[in-house]
Amino acid sequence: MKKIVIVGGGAGGLELATRLGQKLGKYGLAEVTLIDRNRTHLWKPLLHEVVSGSLDTGLEAISYRAHSSENHYYFRMGSLCGLDKEKRQLILAPLEDHHGKQILQQRFIDYDYLVLAIGASSNDFGNASVHEHCYRLDSAQEAEDFHLTFLNRFMQYSEENCLNMDPETPCENTSEDLSDTVTISIVGAGATGVELAAELYQAVDQLERFGIREIHHSSLEVNLIEAADRILPALSESVSGKAAQTLEEQGVKILCNTMVQEVHANSLQTSSGEIHSDLIVWAAGIKAAEFLSRLGLQTNRIHQVEIEATLLAKGEERIFAIGDCCSFTPEGAQRPVPPTAQAAHQMAKLCADNLIAIVKRKPLQTFEYYDHGTLVSLGPFKTLGQLLNQMIKRKWQVEGKLAYWLYASLYRQHQLALYGGRKFFWIWLSSLLEKRIKPKLKLY
Ligand SMILES: Cc1cc2nc3c(=O)[nH]c(=O)nc-3n(C[C@H](O)[C@H](O)[C@H](O)COP(=O)(O)OP(=O)(O)OC[C@H]3O[C@@H](n4cnc5c(N)ncnc54)[C@H](O)[C@@H]3O)c2cc1C
Repeated sequence: MKKIVIVGGGAGGLELATRLGQKLGKYGLAEVTLIDRNRTHLWKPLLHEVVSGSLDTGLEAISYRAHSSENHYYFRMGSLCGLDKEKRQLILAPLEDHHGKQILQQRFIDYDYLVLAIGASSNDFGNASVHEHCYRLDSAQEAEDFHLTFLNRFMQYSEENCLNMDPETPCENTSEDLSDTVTISIVGAGATGVELAAELYQAVDQLERFGIREIHHSSLEVNLIEAADRILPALSESVSGKAAQTLEEQGVKILCNTMVQEVHANSLQTSSGEIHSDLIVWAAGIKAAEFLSRLGLQTNRIHQVEIEATLLAKGEERIFAIGDCCSFTPEGAQRPVPPTAQAAHQMAKLCADNLIAIVKRKPLQTFEYYDHGTLVSLGPFKTLGQLLNQMIKRKWQVEGKLAYWLYASLYRQHQLALYGGRKFFWIWLSSLLEKRIKPKLKLY
């Protein structure tokens, strides 16, 4: 029986493992194994909601172990660190527990076909000060860490500004009297930075509603710093202009044409001068894991594996790569397929079809990317973006409730791919009920 190993259970890898488990594993046609360095999966586009506290990872994350047992694939926890192409073995680093104690030694896993789906992380462009002083949204742990720091900073702010500590007596300060604001700088005004900026203001509004004393909308100052001449440079000028207007109405300070040169603990040195900041989030560009360039595969300058239209790594017959960790430029296109959940989803689908074709000795198909457009959430019912009709190759702008429902449907599609129709229905229903009974903000 063929051994298919998928490394990385993210937006692409988990959908692929589910599909292969259902189509091959269930019928004993192949042994499908998913490897991930974490125990649970959280769809990455939800991370900015984890930061603001509007999403609780405990409720939303999926246990790989439980999911694998229901979908006929095996799950092994581990972190890929090397590859022996001759022996068709991948190498997993020794596994440590949460105290740093080694619980498993280095392991070697055999494969007949390997799929790399390990995603990418934010690109610090080799600037060591970014690594030292910035928060990044590359994993649920990092997003939760930032969320706690955010809550703690506002707790400090509330205590510092509330002169009267008697809970029975209201504070006498007005927002104008308050000594300072909490300043958060976000570097990079792509979709991630823009959505995070909007989410943070919503979180502060919620803190105010929960009665945390002396917290007002104006207690937060967000600087959104972008090297290009406008925010959301990948979208049309009109979408970018509308998003900028919505953010500025919230209070976001947008600084375009601004290059960050150096980051310090509480400030950023930029091409337009120094900016004080209590917290700094880095959301500028992506890069794949550096070790990918040492595996003997063809990679580009940001370490993404170069792939053919069949999704096989260039020059390889048994190694596929999908999602953010690979680079593919369709014939005639000027730019590679963008690193989005939408692309990872489409690649996962074709990769599953091609692996099934291999098992059934049929020819491989080639990947065609369908760009359905981009939507950016700037708060409930403040979603906007542009959709692309592939048939007539025309873009049109959407906003308001329609855009909000389309945006929410992206995650629902991912859930549908993972759970199938019946279970998805119950999950959707329970999330509606939870929204009604739980606080709108995770306060811990
Ligand atoms: C805050 C944020 C918001 C976003 N919003 C959107 C959006 O609205 N729409 C959109 O289309 N895209 C969005 N994206 C981009 C989207 O999340 C990614 O393009 C998508 O998740 C890529 O899928 P993937 O499967 O390639 O990688 P990922 O989803 O990143 O999954 C990678 C998996 O590999 C695992 N892994 C990593 N290294 C190893 C290793 N060495 N060994 C074992 N396992 C490993 C990780 O634990 C993870 O489970 C957003 C990204 C971020 C960060």
